[in-house]
Amino acid sequence: MIENKTKQYLQEHGFENLNLKAVLFDMDGVLFDSMPTHAHAWKETSDHYNLGLSESEAYENEGRTAKSTLNILFQRNEGRDVTEEEVKEIYAYKIKVYNKYNVETVPMKGAAELLSKIRKDGFQIILVTGSGQDTLMDRLEKFYPGIFTKDVMITAKNVKRGKPDPEPYLQGLKCANVHPWEAIVIENAPLGVRSGVRAGIFTVAVNTGPIDDEKLLGEGANLLYHSMQELSDNWEELRKNIQ
Ligand code: CA
Repeated sequence: MIENKTKQYLQEHGFENLNLKAVLFDMDGVLFDSMPTHAHAWKETSDHYNLGLSESEAYENEGRTAKSTLNILFQRNEGRDVTEEEVKEIYAYKIKVYNKYNVETVPMKGAAELLSKIRKDGFQIILVTGSGQDTLMDRLEKFYPGIFTKDVMITAKNVKRGKPDPEPYLQGLKCANVHPWEAIVIENAPLGVRSGVRAGIFTVAVNTGPIDDEKLLGEGANLLYHSMQELSDNWEELRKNIQ
């Protein structure tokens, strides 16, 4: 089954073969189980302002800026774009709600195991996240010690256009000094999958949230797993097909 997927990928891109050298990891929803809090905060904010956003929609919009998400809702509800003032007010409310719930960051189950397998295999590990939080390094070092140093990280601070633009993952390739057929992307969000696919990279979706698999496959994900643990359990089989 994986063999068919890789064949299809190679045909679509006109590449000769996959020759894995680097694994590009998204962070929220892949390495950290941080999405439930974000989605919950968005839902509560939406209820407060009567915006009609569902929790599942919050997941689908993961990776978008607050303004872009609010524009979608305002267009749907009122047929107009959101104003800068409304963005400011509503986003401030969302942050307040988020901070109220912001318990200790939880690592995603199976992620540490997968990282250690990949490291043992000798592949490069690169982080490609839309987050620009200053506490990023501390969190990564705490749960995944010695893996994510500054020179293997593409964050919001390194790119002009975030996901779903391909730029973050193109930067990831550059950082690893590899071609698209020498890497894979691990992503949980539809917009993140779109970014990886548009960068020409074999993109593995891990559906760690409540959205339909179809949303991720529809964005062009080449493979899909339902948890990081499942991906880790199947890593050896996947690796055989991409090296
Ligand atoms: Ca994510």
